Amino acid sequence: MADPLETDAVVLRAIRYGEADAVLSIYTRDRGRVSAMAKGVRKATSRLGGRVQPGVWSRLSLHRGRGDMYQLRGAHVVRTNAGLWTEARRLAAASCVLEAAMRVLPEEEANEEAFALLVRALGALADGPTLPGPPHLHPVVLGFGAKLLVVSGLLPHLQACVTCGAPPPVRWFSARAGGVLCDGCGHGVRVGDGGRTAMIALLASPLRGAADRPLEPADAVDVERIIGAVLGEHLGLGLRSATPG
Ligand SMILES: [Zn+2]
Repeated sequence: MADPLETDAVVLRAIRYGEADAVLSIYTRDRGRVSAMAKGVRKATSRLGGRVQPGVWSRLSLHRGRGDMYQLRGAHVVRTNAGLWTEARRLAAASCVLEAAMRVLPEEEANEEAFALLVRALGALADGPTLPGPPHLHPVVLGFGAKLLVVSGLLPHLQACVTCGAPPPVRWFSARAGGVLCDGCGHGVRVGDGGRTAMIALLASPLRGAADRPLEPADAVDVERIIGAVLGEHLGLGLRSATPG
């Protein structure tokens, strides 16, 4: 039975297949993460090729025959995010966002908020300033990671010790305990108070404009550590360079 699907989508990853085809991993608004075979998109004459670059927001026509994989039938660009290709640092930061979405968002499970978050993050990177420093510590990448925890229902407790309620400063974060911990309640990964407050601030602010509020490098590392610890605990995976704990 054919199963047609018209949906807004972002290509997360494209893998070369055969002479001119590609296997796409796509995050769709209507069906979550899916895979699709894109026939002929790597031919120079393909009109679809540019519309299914990773990071482009397109409206896709997909068709599912037998088997798990969709076939790409058509694509219209909604937003090119052209700024991602004019600057290598922006593209590297966008790759971190796409990789996180690829690893964290589940297959065949629609999540409207996750889709909106993904397109906002890519738009903020495409239109925002380019920043020095490692792309995985870019404030938009970290803000996306923090908000990804929210839309995945994994947000840890950051305001006070999750066990006894002791107020900050607290020095530890434990994904297993579900938040920050004071010295008396246990250990986990060590996080500075600057990292804890930076994560709270990222969660409270829009991604658009996040690049205008760069983080202290040590705080950025702590935010990434918290996000990595939560994902490691709940999903059995870590984002690049994040320390599990
Ligand atoms: Zn405590």
